[in-house]
Amino acid sequence: MYYTMDNLGSENVVRVAQMSNEAEKWEYVRQVASGFGFAGIQVSSTYYERDLGLSPVDIPRWIGESFRLTYHSGDLYHLNTPEDERHFEEVIARILRIAVRSRAEDVSLHPPLLANVALHAPDHRYDAPDYREQSKERLRSVLDKWLPRFLHEGISLSMETHVTSSVFVFEGMRDFLEFVLTFPGLGVLVDVSHNHYDGYDITGLVSSLQSNPITGLHLSDAIRGMTLGEGTHLPIGEGEIDFRTLVESFDKDTVYGALEVRGPARGISDSLAYLSA
Ligand SMILES: [Zn+2]
Repeated sequence: MYYTMDNLGSENVVRVAQMSNEAEKWEYVRQVASGFGFAGIQVSSTYYERDLGLSPVDIPRWIGESFRLTYHSGDLYHLNTPEDERHFEEVIARILRIAVRSRAEDVSLHPPLLANVALHAPDHRYDAPDYREQSKERLRSVLDKWLPRFLHEGISLSMETHVTSSVFVFEGMRDFLEFVLTFPGLGVLVDVSHNHYDGYDITGLVSSLQSNPITGLHLSDAIRGMTLGEGTHLPIGEGEIDFRTLVESFDKDTVYGALEVRGPARGISDSLAYLSA
């Protein structure tokens, strides 16, 4: 596993947000990633747009030349209607263009939200009982069309293991795995923190996944039974997950581990030190 920067650390985010010039911001992002010693950067669309004030459409080429680049679409979205599907296809088309131009190796997506989970509260319009199957059917048709286009460009496309059944269309890990099995070229991005928090055994999950390649992991620690905010995205070593065994199960350079540790930069450097100890 090689490590990629996701969060910059809260104090670095404050500094970037204060800069007015995009080139200056990207240069600072580069410096922060180098300072941590990351081999890669994961550009997450929502995080870069909302927290850093950077347009993820214009990733400078030199970022992709200096780091192994992966692109995470942090969008939460529904696939309830034909309009939702059309919009999602537009988003994917845009991401593919960005990924090709910036030389990203992998693009990862969240699964669709459940129909009755509000993006902007209150919104309970689409709570028909068959919404899970309908959304999965729409996701299937989008992937049928777009997965080959990513693979044609030499870019892997991955689905993140967000399987909290009260939020996402998958009813759990088994349902998720059954779905991805039907797309042999589709990669899997394992969200270690959320999956552990939801009661899954991460090392067991990793060793059971053989048909679909794990392209990456979102790395941060977790503690079950705390509130979601307090029990996830913790610095590595501060929670319950056995990272030593997890990291040992991967080759050095094939799979990325993006550090989704929230809070100050110190938590990120401590996490990296823990992982390489
Ligand atoms: Zn994640």
